[in-house]
Amino acid sequence: MLVISMSRAPDIYIPGIREYAVANGVREPEILARLREETAAHPDAQMQIPPEQGQLFGMLVRLMGVKRALEIGVFTGYSSTATALALPEDGRLIACDISEDFTATARRYWKLAGVEHKIELRIGPAVRTLDALLAEGAADQFDFAFIDADKPSYSDYYERCLKLVRPGGLILLDNMLQHGRVLVENNHETNVVAIRELNSRIHQDERVDALLLPFGDGLTFARRR
Ligand code: SAM
Ligand code: CA
Repeated sequence: MLVISMSRAPDIYIPGIREYAVANGVREPEILARLREETAAHPDAQMQIPPEQGQLFGMLVRLMGVKRALEIGVFTGYSSTATALALPEDGRLIACDISEDFTATARRYWKLAGVEHKIELRIGPAVRTLDALLAEGAADQFDFAFIDADKPSYSDYYERCLKLVRPGGLILLDNMLQHGRVLVENNHETNVVAIRELNSRIHQDERVDALLLPFGDGLTFARRR
């Protein structure tokens, strides 16, 4: 394995190229720009997905004709709003988070964006929420799932999403490069170890077609076979 002796990997892009791609390739809806601006003042603002990722989700939802979507990790609502804006009128998103506080902002923006009726928020530890969905008979019912909550639980979320998403459905997992820390062999941080192990497991998982895209902080596509 390639080893580099710093805590962050060097930027894989030519300096400024991401900004160019965003300036020329992203059409951020006004409501999402407002949410980004408001979240910028939040101490955990860096948890929000970048605008190009929101646009990718909208593109995927439309390309796949997604009707039933699942999100694990809502925060102030950027990814859920971007997803719901692309869903058809009768589309539904089940959004899972543990924080009433963070998701109060999300609820406000769902209303402002006119997508409130498409989203059901479930507050609680997401493993429990996903188990409850399975117990309610929701296996194979989802077209699309986005995993973006606490990293040590990703493996539990992935296993449950593999049951909840239909064959041919898509599971996306965020932060799969951990800002380059996955490369640093002597980095044994809990999140890094968890993500490294999961990357290796998904790579060999015959239940899915998989792709780890160096986009944002690393976005894994796992399409259920
Ligand atoms: N996708 C969001 C966005 O676009 O802004 C960012 C999500 S943020 C990285 C992670 C979220 O996971 C936080 O809102 C946090 O409250 C939530 N979270 C952490 N642990 C959780 C758990 N055990 N169950 C459900 N949600 C959890
Ligand atoms: Ca993330």
